Amino acid sequence: MSDTMIRGTAFGKEVRFFAADTRETVEEARRIHDTWPLCTAALGRLLTAAAMMGTMGKNEDDVITLKIEGDGPVGSITATADHNAGVKGIIYNNHIELPLKTNGHLDVGGGVGRGMISVIKDFGMKEPYVGQTALYSGEIAEDLTYYYAESEQIPTSVALGVLVDRDLSVKQAGGFIIQMMPFASEETIAAVEKKLSEFGSVTDEFEKGKSVTEMMESLLSDMEIEETILVSYSCNCSRERVRKALVSIGRDELEKLYDEGEPVNLHCDFCGKDYSFSHEEIGEIIVSS
Ligand SMILES: [Zn+2]
Repeated sequence: MSDTMIRGTAFGKEVRFFAADTRETVEEARRIHDTWPLCTAALGRLLTAAAMMGTMGKNEDDVITLKIEGDGPVGSITATADHNAGVKGIIYNNHIELPLKTNGHLDVGGGVGRGMISVIKDFGMKEPYVGQTALYSGEIAEDLTYYYAESEQIPTSVALGVLVDRDLSVKQAGGFIIQMMPFASEETIAAVEKKLSEFGSVTDEFEKGKSVTEMMESLLSDMEIEETILVSYSCNCSRERVRKALVSIGRDELEKLYDEGEPVNLHCDFCGKDYSFSHEEIGEIIVSS
C-alpha cells in the first residue's frame, strides 16, 4: 500500500482541503537520515506539510520549500516538494533526544525552539515568492497555521502527526490542511471549528484503522474529492546535476582537486546517494568547462 493524498472541497465548495497518509514516505526519510524519534517526528511533520502544499501550485514544475530555522537542538529542517507530492528533506541534527512532554508526546517544539519558518514557492518566475513568519510553538502544524493567517491571510487549520513505533520505525504519519474560502459563511466556519475542537489527532485516527478519506469525512460535510495523488520520498539528483555542481565551484577549485590526484566523492544530503568522479573525469570537466 502506497501513501496517498486527497484534495478537494467541502461544505458546498466553501472549504478546500488537503489530507495525506505519509507513513511510508516518513519511514523512508527516517531510514535515509537515520533519525531518532524526536527528529523523525520533526522532519516527518515538515515533509507531510510540504507534500500537501506542493500540490497547491498550478504548474507541473512548481516547487515549494519549507524551511524551519529554530534555536533548538534539532537545528534547521528543510523539506522540498514538487507538484506531484514527491518530497525530500534534510534535518541538521538527526540524533536529538529530549524528555517526553507531560502528555507523553515527543517534544518537537522543544527540539525546534524559537525562530522562523519560511515558505519558498518557486513557480518558475525570476525570483521565488518567499513568505516568512516567526515560529509560533515549534510544533510545525501550529507554526504553519500561524503562517497562513499572518503571511497569506487565509484562515487555515493544519494538523500533522508522526507516531514512532517501539522499534523506532514510523508507525503512523500524516496530516491535513483545511482552508476557508473567502466566501465561506459564518455557519460553515462555526461547523468546521466545532468538528476540529472535537478532533483527537491524525495518528489516533489512523491507529483506529481509518483511511485518510474516512478521517476527513469525520471532519467535513458535503466532501468532494477532486484528486487522489501518490505521495513519495523522491530526490531528483543525478550524476549530471552533480557534475554541474562541480563545474559551478570554478576552474581554480577544480584544478586544486585535480592536483590532489584522488577521486572526488560527493554525497547528496537529501537522499544519501554517493557520486564518485575519477581523477580522469575531473580532468575532463576542467577541459570542457
Ligand atoms: Zn539525491
